[in-house]
Amino acid sequence: MLTATDPDAPAPADLKAEATALGAEFPAPLPGLIAATEPENVQRWVLRDRPALKQWSKGRATLVGDAAHPTSPYAAYGAGMSIEDGYFLGVALRGVELTDATAVATALQSYEEPRKPHTARQVQMAWMLGKIFHHAPAPLRPIRDFVFDHTPFLQKMAGDSNPREINKQLALIEG
Ligand SMILES: Cc1cc2nc3c(=O)[nH]c(=O)nc-3n(C[C@H](O)[C@H](O)[C@H](O)COP(=O)(O)OP(=O)(O)OC[C@H]3O[C@@H](n4cnc5c(N)ncnc54)[C@H](O)[C@@H]3O)c2cc1C
Repeated sequence: MLTATDPDAPAPADLKAEATALGAEFPAPLPGLIAATEPENVQRWVLRDRPALKQWSKGRATLVGDAAHPTSPYAAYGAGMSIEDGYFLGVALRGVELTDATAVATALQSYEEPRKPHTARQVQMAWMLGKIFHHAPAPLRPIRDFVFDHTPFLQKMAGDSNPREINKQLALIEG
């Protein structure tokens, strides 16, 4: 279950009780799944945001996926970008003599250069959506909800412009 937490707050002592309370109003089968889970198998991962890395590759090594650009779930695209990274890394290394360290380093640089701005924008968007959806101060929430309900803001941002960015990457892959 995904929930906004105060990163400085201590972890709940009884994770199963916490999960049970969080899941109580969800439809079946979620509450039943939680009830059937052994307490020692209820685990907690706190989501952290990290500023974009300036450099992904060094010598013959590079990063892909969350290691390069950890993305909070609000983009629903972290796994998608990881798969894209794999494709673009493969393209960059195609035909490269792997024993030639200079050629490999050049190929890795050509892989990461176009990936960095795209992934950084998506990570930033996910961070911002997380803030707006889950961390808006209480007095601002009615204004936020009004804007979401009565203006094209959310549709434009998350429904139009962001998918357009993603489609550009997919077009490169299809090409
Ligand atoms: C709650 C939540 C919801 C999400 N929803 C979506 C979604 O709807 N759509 C989407 O596209 N993305 C989503 N994501 C993001 C997505 O899960 C990640 O971006 C994606 O899994 C990253 O893939 P990865 O292969 O880079 O890293 P990971 O999936 O983290 O894989 C890294 C692997 O390396 C292993 N490992 C670590 N250290 C070592 C080591 N020393 N030796 C060997 N193995 C090691 C780990 O065990 C792990 O299996 C979500 C993430 C969360 C947390």
